[in-house]
Amino acid sequence: MTVTDDTAVITRPQIGPRQLFIDGQWREAGAGERFEIVDPSTGKPVTTVAEADADDLDSAVRAARAAFDDGRWSGLPGRERARILLRVAALVRERADEIVAVESVDVGKPVSLCRPVDVMTTAEQYEYCAALAQTAGGSNRETPLDAHAYTRREPLGVVGAITPFNFPLILSTSKIAPALAAGNTVVHKPAEDTPLSALLMAEILTEAGVPAGVVNVVTGKGSTVGEALLQHRGIDKIAFTGSTAVGRHAASVAGENLTPVTMELGGNAAHIVFEDADVDKAIGAIIKGFVFNTGQFCMGGPRLLVARPLYETVLGILGQAVPGVPVGDPFDPATVVGPMAGDKHVRKVEEYVQIARADGGRIVAGGERLDLGGGYYYKPTVIADLPNTSRVVQEEIFGPVLTVQPFDTEDEAIALANSTEYGLASGLQTSNVARAHRVAARLQAGIVWVNDWAMLDPAVPFGGVKNSGFGREYGPEALESYSKVKSVVISLA
Ligand code: NAD
Repeated sequence: MTVTDDTAVITRPQIGPRQLFIDGQWREAGAGERFEIVDPSTGKPVTTVAEADADDLDSAVRAARAAFDDGRWSGLPGRERARILLRVAALVRERADEIVAVESVDVGKPVSLCRPVDVMTTAEQYEYCAALAQTAGGSNRETPLDAHAYTRREPLGVVGAITPFNFPLILSTSKIAPALAAGNTVVHKPAEDTPLSALLMAEILTEAGVPAGVVNVVTGKGSTVGEALLQHRGIDKIAFTGSTAVGRHAASVAGENLTPVTMELGGNAAHIVFEDADVDKAIGAIIKGFVFNTGQFCMGGPRLLVARPLYETVLGILGQAVPGVPVGDPFDPATVVGPMAGDKHVRKVEEYVQIARADGGRIVAGGERLDLGGGYYYKPTVIADLPNTSRVVQEEIFGPVLTVQPFDTEDEAIALANSTEYGLASGLQTSNVARAHRVAARLQAGIVWVNDWAMLDPAVPFGGVKNSGFGREYGPEALESYSKVKSVVISLA
């Protein structure tokens, strides 16, 4: 984890009540409802946000439709869209302190990590997508027909983006940036717990020159406004990131309407340490893999599989090192692990740790809440000796919990790694290059890391297999999922 010291001066922001952003205007929800946003590090209210309903959502879709149909965005040359996206990136860099403060108070992210990870990745995604906007296009096709045949890459129309609570900024950007690059308009429904950066980004997009109606933000509950977005016939594509349970429902509604979808869902990755690994180096990646974002990380590595000769050694090192990871106030620049985003998330972790104890798990570190006088803190926790069938191993806990299991052979490690319903990420530690390639090919995951964890970049696609979803974000693949190909064949006869 790269911790920067540029954040020493970032303090908790004062945030006034926020409204919906529809058709370039800030508006109250039609029914006048609002909901409260809480600072996870104190449990105290930060501000209130307008709570949209299905009628507000409909207004947003109509605005996005009108903005798409009149070509104010889709009709711009790719190079002009790119120029505006680059301005978005520049403003994100310029306003980084403000964005860090908002994201940190909303989610509980340590400011030391929020800047290099969440904010800089956002700027980089806009820069990368600006390049895609300029270079994407169709191609000529050779054919024996007496014809000139070529393809055009066209935007889909109105994209409905639904995002989860844990990486609000990055995950909304991973949809909005490629959607805009391809010429679409967007209706974004951020998670109800953490909508503040989406509203701040609406300001930034406007300041950069994205025309009114092109990006609309409707805040509110998944069960009401999220559901209305899924059901709306004016939506041409649904880009969903969230839990497998809600994703399954979203995909079935989209299936009924024959709306294209991408699904970025839950994860429960295995991190394999082979006997030929550089253990000192591996420990850093292992700890990063399960404490990063307080374990609220779909691509985290919460299942550690260790070659039996190294099993007790690795447990011993983790038992020493994990209690030393700095947990605390996200606005303290020394903090590496902040609070969880809400009390319900801590309670879920508590339930899983209770199950682990009942299943014979050995608590090597943590195993309880951390009392810092308020806020939703849980100690980074390491649990050994659980059977592979335990729910604690098989299910997505989404907290700072690592289970550790031994294995005897390469085949067994791969079988254990592939033994859950998920397939988002996976990783291995080895000094044997042949093994790295061999095992990477057999792991059921959308991305495999070797000798580190969470190496992500806008150029490298990610997404899931199995119940972790389908479709890819990042890379040129992202643009493909926000555009359609039309073939044109012109007779030369
Ligand atoms: P969630 O599924 O509870 O909510 C995700 C979004 O869906 C929220 O905006 C929510 O309001 C909305 N929603 C809820 N019910 C809805 C409905 N009936 N119709 C439409 N929208 C609805 O997920 P969460 O708790 O916010 O996020 C955590 C989950 O997201 C974890 O499972 C995690 O693995 C996953 N996740 C996946 C990725 C990825 O890239 N694959 C990234 C981050 C998080």
